[in-house]
This record gives sequence, structure tokens and C-alpha cells, in this order.
Amino acid sequence: MTMDNKEHDIQLFKPTYAVDECLAEIRECLEIGWTGLGFKTVKFEEAWKEYTGLPHAHYLNSATAGLNMAVEILKQEKGWADGDEIITTPLTFISTNHAIPLNNLRAVFADIDNTNCLDPKSVEERITDKTRAVIFVGFGGNAGHYEEVAKICKEHGLALILDAAHMSGTRLHGEIPGKDADVVVYSYQAVKNLPTADSGMICFKEEKYDAIARKIGWLGINKDTYSRTVNAGNYKWKYDVEYVGNKLHGNSIMASIGLVQLKYLDRDNAYRKEMCKWYRERFSKYPELIEMIHIPEECDSSCHLFQIIVAHRDEMLLALNAAGIYPGVHYTDNTQYRMYAYAQGTCPRAAYVSDHVISLPLHMRLTRDDIEYICDQVIKIAKEQADAK
Ligand SMILES: *Cc1c(COP(=O)(O)O)cnc(C)c1O
Repeated sequence: MTMDNKEHDIQLFKPTYAVDECLAEIRECLEIGWTGLGFKTVKFEEAWKEYTGLPHAHYLNSATAGLNMAVEILKQEKGWADGDEIITTPLTFISTNHAIPLNNLRAVFADIDNTNCLDPKSVEERITDKTRAVIFVGFGGNAGHYEEVAKICKEHGLALILDAAHMSGTRLHGEIPGKDADVVVYSYQAVKNLPTADSGMICFKEEKYDAIARKIGWLGINKDTYSRTVNAGNYKWKYDVEYVGNKLHGNSIMASIGLVQLKYLDRDNAYRKEMCKWYRERFSKYPELIEMIHIPEECDSSCHLFQIIVAHRDEMLLALNAAGIYPGVHYTDNTQYRMYAYAQGTCPRAAYVSDHVISLPLHMRLTRDDIEYICDQVIKIAKEQADAK
């Protein structure tokens, strides 16, 4: 981190924890001697199901693990063939898309719209007789045109995977979205809206897939057999292995933090929303200089990100750094990476956003003065850039 500016040091993200409460939950684990799978992980799964209204939830070590497992289980259970296609967005963190080729499937990229989420029209255009699923990313907490994409999936018999890594707390028509998706995956990575250190949740619609996830996420071990023998009081070491699995499940230390942070999720998101309102009020006076991301009226976003689109992004980032402001970029259009370069040029809006978008600082420690200062700087720089051209 460079310190060009003595007065200001405003970072993009700075997670905030209810420290004493987190430590009390963790202390309980340490005192009883249970830090692994079970105990707090089960409590967090129950709390998450209650909060979201989703029928199943399995706690994992990351959302990346959840996305990989979501594709793996759907492919295996629905009998998809190697080379079958999943339609996805180029504007996302790379783990969304790696889940596809990791399972020997082909990522087909559809373009985004003014919500930074998948454009339903583009999704429909990319459907072939090999399409099996769509992965929808609720970008920055925005549900975008999720409902239209869900409708397209239903009409074409496609599975729907909701990458809700940014969506902890997002409501759509007043409800947590994703009940119509085959699977919803959340992230509680260190800088997400519900930060732990690293962990995630996989929420399958169907109970049988949830049961498979619990096996595949623990090396394929059949725990039903295990618990049966435990209940019988004998042969605790005896279990069967039904799948080739991996070690993907979460642990009780992370779940302790998650349980505490969940209590404050709606409160924290409300303050994020307030900060976004302050940004929007200022920038809405300069539509020719600063484009904002459209959030449909029916969506109450978690406000994971506040993004703007500007003409001279890289120069603006440098100028903001000089003013002690350190924004981010979410994300590089994935088709610009070598692994997905076969799709370069197929998603012009995503390519444009990738070159012009800025994520401005948004976290619980920012004050209204900080936001006003950031707005002053962004507007000043944008005006100078426009005058210079
Ligand atoms: C952070 C993120 C992930 C991965 O989450 P992890 O918990 O870090 O594995 C997946 N998709 C999106 C859109 C993300 O932002």
C-alpha cells in the first residue's frame, strides 16, 4: 500500500467484527474441545436456513468449494456429458467460471446488462441443445434480472445455479431470492458482507442433493452408516465410502464468527445502503461524467459493492490513490484471461465495463464525511479529465 496522502487512507474494504462476541463463541469451542465439523457448523446451518428461508444449507470452507460441488453434483445426478455447456457471465470472480471446466464442461459466456448481471436476452441467444445450466451472479448484491433468467431456465429445462457470494442479505420483492434455483452458493470470505475469514454455504433445493453434498464434502464418507454405528455404541470407526470426494466442509471456529456476524447482517447492510444513497445523491448530478449501476426497484441489494463507470478509469484510479483513496476493480472480463480467451469479443458490454468500472470504498468504518470526500474527489477528477480531452 502506498501512502501518498497523509490526511486520508480510505481502503475499499475493511471488515468489521463484533470481536468480543466472536471470541466468546470461539472460546466455547476451545473449552469443550470441538473445533471441527459439527457443533457450531450445525448451529450456523440452522441459523442460515431460518434467516434465508431456504430448505437446506451445508456449511463449507469456501464458496469456491460450493460452486465446484454444485456443478459436480448436478452433472453427476442429472447425467450431463463431458463437453456439455453452462451459460455464465464474464464479469465475475474467476471461481464462478472455473467450476465449469473443472467438471469437464464448457463455459459459454453471455453478456451483462446495465445491472452488471447477466442480460436475459443474451442468455437466451446462447442456448444450444448442449446447454444444461445457467450460473447467475448477483453482482455486488444486485439481483439484476434474475427472475427473467430463472424463467428462461424453467422454459428450457435448464438447471439454475445462483452464485450469491455478494448477496448475503439481498431481498427481492421483500424475500431472500433463490428458492427457485437448483442451488444457491454464499461466500463468507474475509471481505464479503458476512465476513468470517474463509467459508461458504451451499443450499440445494432438493434434499437428496444436500445429502450428497455432505458426503462429497467429506471425502465421500457415508456418515449415515457412521452415525448408525455411533448410535449403536460400537464400531465407531466403521463407515462406507460412497463417492470419490474432497475435504470441503467448514469448521466450528469459522462458524462461530459466522453465527455472530449473522446477527448484525441486516443492520450492517442497512448502513451500506445509506452510504450508497449518499454516493448516488452526489453522482446523479453528473450523469454525463459518472454512470451508476442500475438496481431494479424490486431489489433491496445487500450493497456489497458501490460501482461507477467512468471514461478514463485507470487515470482516475491513480488520481484517487494520490488523494488517499484506494478503490478496487470488480472484475476483469474473464474472457480476457488465457483460459477463457476462446470467448473474447463475444460480450462487448462486459468488456467495456471491465475497462471502465471502479468499486468505491464501502465498509462499516466509513463516515458520511469520508463518503463526501470521496465524492468530491471523483467529481473533481472526472471534470478535469473531461476538460482535458
Ligand atoms: C468471492 C467470490 C467467490 C468465491 O468465494 P470464496 O468464499 O472466496 O471461495 C465466488 N463468486 C463471487 C462472485 C465472489 O465474489
